[in-house]
Amino acid sequence: MTTSLATTRPAEPHADAKGRLAAAVEAARSEILELSHRIHANPEPAFEERQAAAWIAELLRRNGYAVEHPAGRLATAIRAVRPGGRGDASPRIGILAEYDALPGLGHGCGHNTMAASGVGAAIALAALAEELPGEIVFLGTPAEERGSGKQFMIDDGLFEGIDAALLFHPCDRNHVESHPLASEDAEIVFNGLQAHAASDPWQGRNALDAMITLFSTVGLWRQQLRPDTRVHGIIQEGGTAANIIPDRTRAWFMLRSPDQAYYETMKERFQALAKGAALATDTSVEVTFSGGSMTMKQNRTLEDRWVANAAAYGIEDQGPDPNSGSTDMGNVSWVCPTIHPDLAIADEGTPGHSILFRDAAATPRADETTLLAATLVAQVAYELFADPALVAAAWREFRGEA
Ligand SMILES: [Zn+2]
Ligand SMILES: [Zn+2]
Repeated sequence: MTTSLATTRPAEPHADAKGRLAAAVEAARSEILELSHRIHANPEPAFEERQAAAWIAELLRRNGYAVEHPAGRLATAIRAVRPGGRGDASPRIGILAEYDALPGLGHGCGHNTMAASGVGAAIALAALAEELPGEIVFLGTPAEERGSGKQFMIDDGLFEGIDAALLFHPCDRNHVESHPLASEDAEIVFNGLQAHAASDPWQGRNALDAMITLFSTVGLWRQQLRPDTRVHGIIQEGGTAANIIPDRTRAWFMLRSPDQAYYETMKERFQALAKGAALATDTSVEVTFSGGSMTMKQNRTLEDRWVANAAAYGIEDQGPDPNSGSTDMGNVSWVCPTIHPDLAIADEGTPGHSILFRDAAATPRADETTLLAATLVAQVAYELFADPALVAAAWREFRGEA
């Protein structure tokens, strides 16, 4: 990979300004990478990213941003604004960052590189702020791995007036286009009645039997589900002792589909399966859905600019990502023109959400990719600041007019 930020000639248009952005990222290299490594070494799960958010906010303040932290209802959300020097109100370009880790695994999704590259892009753009119109808006978005923090921020009005949202994700390949699945978390609680499991088990109503029935019927249901859907879960409470008939069990499932309408039918069917399991075992059930993330509305206008800028650094786009998880970046993509490109930080075939990927997220290769991602996000943002017609084209496509 060619990532020599100092010596590579960036893509046109505005290659000279883009070269200055790359130089600004290079000048902030140690700050950016120190942040990445510090977050990597101190993983905090969704909604609990207190240290990461504080470190990010501090770095943005030092670089001339007016920082709102917390922002909206989420204690670990950040909105930081740096007005351009030209005094115009628009455009407002959103530079996003994620920083949550996975419980028990750490940064197995590499969000430390996303935090650092988002801050790096913000620092680079701030260095050129005097020549920009509009506003650079940094949005620190907690809770991607569960809970869809970005939806809370959308509901809190923190994306209002944003003309484009840009966020890189680390991967084992390079893709500008991905097709995340609509997804929700489902909490299932069965309530039964305790009894002695040997002396009078017939007095009990077994909440664990209900849970096992649910898992069995979900297993059978998969046969009738479209192959591109996913349903997977774990048991979080399975009873307290082998000699007590369990009166309460709790599971966490996730349901996913690339088709929002089909997803809604899955959700209904899943609820029916849970009710069926309760009926079969004479227990009661509560199903609570939360943290919905949506499919991605593609924006080829912005994607093309990413691909062109990346190509100057020797990055060849490998086509749409064939592997799909879910992300609340999908929710953002229905609010404003959005891109969520992947850049490789590890060898192809390295699984996401793994110890291997976690360890890859703090290597010299990940560091170089983080700096490159910061540069590319800043360069695409610069094009949007410099060219009102590009912003207009992205919005025409967003509205289905192009
Ligand atoms: Zn991720
Ligand atoms: Zn993840």
